[in-house]
Amino acid sequence: MSRDILSMTFGELTDAFTELGIQKFRAKQVYEWLHKHLASDYDEMLNIPKSLRTELSEKLPLYTCKIARKQVSKLDSTVKYLFEMHDGDFVESVVMKYKYGYTICVSSQVGCKMGCAFCASTLGGFKRSLLPGEILSQLYTAQKDLGERISHIVLMGMGEPLDNYDNVLRFLELITDEKGLNISMRNISLSTCGIVPKINDLIDKHLQLTLSISLHAPSDELRSRIMPVNNKYPVDELLRSCRKYAAETSRRISFEYAMLSGVNDSDECAALLASKLRGMLCHVNLIPVNEVAESPFKPSSHDRVERFVEILNKNGINATVRRKLGSDIDASCGQLRQKENKNRKKGVE
Ligand code: SAH
Repeated sequence: MSRDILSMTFGELTDAFTELGIQKFRAKQVYEWLHKHLASDYDEMLNIPKSLRTELSEKLPLYTCKIARKQVSKLDSTVKYLFEMHDGDFVESVVMKYKYGYTICVSSQVGCKMGCAFCASTLGGFKRSLLPGEILSQLYTAQKDLGERISHIVLMGMGEPLDNYDNVLRFLELITDEKGLNISMRNISLSTCGIVPKINDLIDKHLQLTLSISLHAPSDELRSRIMPVNNKYPVDELLRSCRKYAAETSRRISFEYAMLSGVNDSDECAALLASKLRGMLCHVNLIPVNEVAESPFKPSSHDRVERFVEILNKNGINATVRRKLGSDIDASCGQLRQKENKNRKKGVE
């Protein structure tokens, strides 16, 4: 087991303190410093003796992320952070303000292995998975920086959360812990490109988590062209698991569909999509694709998107076009890290 303290549940932290011969009440104090007061350094824990703080920082390191860059949208006050991890890796998070409160979009990995053709996170390659505490730290650092309570989370940043399953589940356990920030599982969405066996594992957990599926195409022929994961887990197999998830959790599945001009936005695609989703407790989120410098895809026209929605709605499928936030600050995943890595190579600050 990794010894980084921010990734430990209260039980594990208590056991680790016992092993180190530290009094039990200290475990509660330190856990609250970490998960309620969002301390980013042992030296902030003023009711913990200095000698103990030093011992803890040596034996149970506290890995938190630092703000390397922050961009605030002039259009809608969306905030994008580029965070630097303790080992110098970068990940991105975005905070958006909605009527119901602040939502953070967090990353689960440094880079991504999934290779979706339209996605910037893939371009920089895969580096590593994040620890549970490193996912938490994105939220904690943003909340402290903004001075605002973040009430909703989407696991929709860089990386594939179900390719980092154990750490993501631990993150969910910690963030919903009543001894910590106690965010409701109902306020959390996990977005996946469709790793079916892990979706099935999630079904067995019976969580009140919202599942978002990056579908982007209704047929295997088309989906495999833009999303390599489809070669392993084809559309019908994925949708079977989704139906089961919705039936067993009574949670509405959210399907993400990036509109790529001339690729997946035809009337036929809309009709096929509607027929495949018929009868499922679900919602389709249409997003005109964000243009990524290195990729050939262009967003569908406004009229095309409207027509697509119309066909879905006529066929009884709930669909809306997602509001675009932060379009002036490269707020879609992977874009900022990609720039940062390039700038570093060029020696630009
Ligand atoms: N790996 C997970 C979560 C990260 S991606 C997943 O695939 O769901 C978050 C969402 O952004 C996904 O729906 C992804 O398909 C979408 N996305 C990636 N690049 C995009 C782009 N250039 N324009 C619009 N959406 C994009």
